[in-house]
Amino acid sequence: MNPNATVNVKAALPARLAGLKRLALNLRWSWDLDTVRLWRRMDPDAWERSGHDPVRMLRGLERERLAALADDDDFLAHYDRVLADLETYLAREGTWYARRFPDMADAGAVAYFSAEYGLTECLPIYSGGLGVLSGDHLKAASDLGVPLVAVGLLYRQGYFTQRLDERGNQLEEYTEARPRDLPLAEVRVGGRALVVEVPLPGRTLRARVWRADVGRVPLLLLDTRVTGNRADDRALTDRLYGGGTEMRIAQEVLLGIGGYNALRGAGLEPRAYHMNEGHSSFLVLEHLRRLVQEDGLALAEAREAAGRALVFTTHTPVAAGHDHFPPELALQHIGHYGAALGLDDTELLAMARRPAEEATFCMTCLALRGAQQANGVSRLHGAVSRSMWHALWPERDSEQVPIGHVTNGVHLETWLAEELKELYAERFGRIWPEVAQSERFPDRLASVGDRILWGLLARQRRRLADFVEGRLRAGRAVARDGMRLDPDALTLGFARRFTPYKRATLVLRNVERMAALAWAEGRPLQLLFAGKAHPRDEGGKALLAEVGRLATEGPLAGRVVLLEGYDLELARALVQGVDVWLNTPRPPLEASGTSGMKAAANGALNVSTFDGWWAEAWREHNRAAAPIGWVIGPEDVGVDPLGGEERDDSDAAALMRLLEEQVVPAFYRRDEDGLPREWLARVRASMGQLTPFFNTGRMVGDYAERYYTPALRVPTPA
Ligand SMILES: *Cc1c(COP(=O)(O)O)cnc(C)c1O
Repeated sequence: MNPNATVNVKAALPARLAGLKRLALNLRWSWDLDTVRLWRRMDPDAWERSGHDPVRMLRGLERERLAALADDDDFLAHYDRVLADLETYLAREGTWYARRFPDMADAGAVAYFSAEYGLTECLPIYSGGLGVLSGDHLKAASDLGVPLVAVGLLYRQGYFTQRLDERGNQLEEYTEARPRDLPLAEVRVGGRALVVEVPLPGRTLRARVWRADVGRVPLLLLDTRVTGNRADDRALTDRLYGGGTEMRIAQEVLLGIGGYNALRGAGLEPRAYHMNEGHSSFLVLEHLRRLVQEDGLALAEAREAAGRALVFTTHTPVAAGHDHFPPELALQHIGHYGAALGLDDTELLAMARRPAEEATFCMTCLALRGAQQANGVSRLHGAVSRSMWHALWPERDSEQVPIGHVTNGVHLETWLAEELKELYAERFGRIWPEVAQSERFPDRLASVGDRILWGLLARQRRRLADFVEGRLRAGRAVARDGMRLDPDALTLGFARRFTPYKRATLVLRNVERMAALAWAEGRPLQLLFAGKAHPRDEGGKALLAEVGRLATEGPLAGRVVLLEGYDLELARALVQGVDVWLNTPRPPLEASGTSGMKAAANGALNVSTFDGWWAEAWREHNRAAAPIGWVIGPEDVGVDPLGGEERDDSDAAALMRLLEEQVVPAFYRRDEDGLPREWLARVRASMGQLTPFFNTGRMVGDYAERYYTPALRVPTPA
């Protein structure tokens, strides 16, 4: 790739601070506390106003301020340190990957495709869990030295900005980010902006390409705001999950096929491809076309070679989460691949046919047939997926369906509280992330005494209380007038996409009983909620309004806050500050979930139905003297989607009983030193056992071992 990309920072930086551009344009700052502190100290208010975007902040800083900083020895020492650290990080040779696979040095890169990336709050190209997982995946790949290059779309308006009126009704706002205000560089090749062209019905779509550097991993983002495109095509990359079916298929053609060619145009020649969810599975067709037309393989050989080089991850058992299109519409968009591959329309459509639903072009089916490596995202979800897609392999038993699992994780350096990172750095040294991801972590954690641990959790809770009060003052939360948070009260958090199966209001069903708990003299409890509903999900919006109503009227008002605009910043504040993380999906509809992993790593205890990652955590990582948290309702589920509402009553009752009989007493039972010893034993068990496994270092390592390196070892066609 041409490193000569145009950079976006135009502020006239003093020569002594010229490296700020380089620091701003590599997103490694987003998980490096020392660099974030550098941005913050340059101008704390400007840092907040910029939406935590160093490019925008630098652009707006006064010349005098920059001159003063260039003359401030303390600041300069800090600046030199983080810049040198970035260079060391980027140049490191003995990475995990290099040590683990010494024979793979020249084996090439894996291209990772995802419709969304949650990397940092200033880059609004994510909606929720899928995006955050993709972002954390790239960061961990960079840390481990896994040779990844990534592709996505640059949504200028993002998903949407959520506003809540004073009753909790969601309003969607769309504001536009300008690429020049973002930590992006335009990709140029031979002195000219790279443009990829993709055929769409009756026209050619053009896209330019931006690049975000995620540590060592380049992420290419396609942008159709290009002169020459039709008006609707210029708006194609405005919004994530925004338009109707036609817009969706065009976006997916752009991602899968345009993305494939953007990589080649930029001179990145990946040898294997990872489709993170079915949005990018049109790349199967483009890869086959290339093997047949450019490399001269027969279709059967091409299918075999492609299958071995492609990896596919499915992310949900919810039917609506799997894209499908009317076959006629699909043919209008990708029908030309028939001629290229020597297939008629029926044969081409058969590649994406969903058994028993002949008249759909199913993106998940195309990916499952195209990729020989396929996986779900937790042990339970692997089994649910094998059952769900069994019809594609009717001759096999369900257990033999070729879908495995790689359990999700979270990027610890992104998600851990500052207080905790400092403590770990002090106790375990600079290599603390390695310690936290190793088997010896529970023992090392034992060296942190109860008093220190409890003090840490109290500081984290207080910071959350301050954060929420700031949001209340700014009118960015729904609560009873004048409500204040109690920084010493047991604090529960629930934040996720608002959609019926996640049951946001399960904990609020019995209002009187909950109010009795919340207002109990001497042992109060408070609840924080946040989440977005998809603009067309009326059920999800009704749940938001229900939480908003309970936050403002009736006996729970004053103990419940609904925070506006769930994003990475708010997610960090919540998972780092709460005592209990609530997770109440109807099993087995939650493929994994990752917010509970973030909360656990920060010392919160999970209270969750037996689903997704929690089923696995409970069964396989629950071996200490104290349990790692609590399970709501029955401890086993079948793999066939129940999703039934009949469980709601019994789960709500089980949750109330847990809170009344176990959670609240354990939190408030203090010994003569004022410490909740039983609570802390659970916190220790949870942090110690869950952190080393439910992180993206382990996860990306699993992908590298089981899928990436075998895919990279496939010989290239002669
Ligand atoms: C972690 C995260 C998610 C995913 O968490 P779930 O447990 O799957 O809901 C969604 N949105 C944001 C902003 C996150 O940080």
